[in-house]
Amino acid sequence: MRKKKIRNIIILECITCHSNLNKRTYGISRYITEKNKQKTIKRLTLKKYCKFCNKSSIHKEIK
Ligand SMILES: [Zn+2]
Repeated sequence: MRKKKIRNIIILECITCHSNLNKRTYGISRYITEKNKQKTIKRLTLKKYCKFCNKSSIHKEIK
Protein backbone atom coordinates (compact mmCIF):
# COMPACT_ATOMS: atom_id res chain seq x y z
CA MET A 1 0.00 0.00 0.00
CA ARG A 2 1.43 3.36 -1.02
CA LYS A 3 1.64 6.18 1.43
CA LYS A 4 -0.69 9.00 0.67
CA LYS A 5 0.94 12.34 0.06
CA ILE A 6 0.11 14.89 2.73
CA ARG A 7 1.40 17.97 0.99
CA ASN A 8 -1.17 20.69 0.60
CA ILE A 9 -1.47 23.49 -1.86
CA ILE A 10 -1.21 26.87 -0.17
CA ILE A 11 -1.39 30.44 -1.43
CA LEU A 12 1.15 33.10 -0.51
CA GLU A 13 -0.02 36.68 -0.68
CA CYS A 14 2.00 39.91 -0.60
CA ILE A 15 1.46 41.48 2.81
CA THR A 16 2.29 44.94 1.50
CA CYS A 17 -0.52 44.76 -1.07
CA HIS A 18 -2.75 43.09 1.45
CA SER A 19 -2.43 45.92 3.98
CA ASN A 20 -2.92 48.62 1.35
CA LEU A 21 -6.66 48.77 0.75
CA ASN A 22 -6.40 51.47 -1.91
CA LYS A 23 -4.24 49.19 -3.99
CA ARG A 24 -6.61 46.28 -3.91
CA THR A 25 -8.31 47.32 -7.10
CA TYR A 26 -5.05 46.68 -8.93
CA GLY A 27 -4.64 43.28 -7.44
CA ILE A 28 -2.53 41.39 -5.00
CA SER A 29 0.55 39.41 -5.83
CA ARG A 30 -0.04 35.74 -5.20
CA TYR A 31 2.13 32.68 -5.43
CA ILE A 32 0.90 29.14 -5.28
CA THR A 33 3.10 26.62 -3.56
CA GLU A 34 2.76 23.57 -1.44
CA LYS A 35 3.94 22.50 1.96
CA ASN A 36 3.90 19.59 4.27
CA LYS A 37 1.40 20.54 6.93
CA GLN A 38 2.72 18.04 9.42
CA LYS A 39 6.26 19.34 9.20
CA THR A 40 5.39 23.00 8.78
CA ILE A 41 2.77 23.99 11.31
CA LYS A 42 3.57 27.69 11.28
CA ARG A 43 2.30 29.92 8.53
CA LEU A 44 4.75 30.10 5.71
CA THR A 45 6.37 33.37 4.71
CA LEU A 46 8.60 33.83 1.71
CA LYS A 47 10.29 36.77 0.12
CA LYS A 48 9.09 37.01 -3.45
CA TYR A 49 9.00 39.59 -6.16
CA CYS A 50 5.72 41.50 -6.24
CA LYS A 51 4.85 43.06 -9.59
CA PHE A 52 2.29 45.37 -7.95
CA CYS A 53 4.73 46.74 -5.37
CA ASN A 54 7.49 46.58 -7.99
CA LYS A 55 9.91 45.11 -5.46
CA SER A 56 10.60 42.06 -3.40
CA SER A 57 8.30 41.79 -0.46
CA ILE A 58 7.16 39.32 2.14
CA HIS A 59 4.49 36.93 0.97
CA LYS A 60 2.50 35.25 3.69
CA GLU A 61 0.37 32.17 3.61
CA ILE A 62 -3.34 32.89 3.51
CA LYS A 63 -6.27 30.58 4.26
ZN1 LIG B 1 2.74 43.69 -3.21
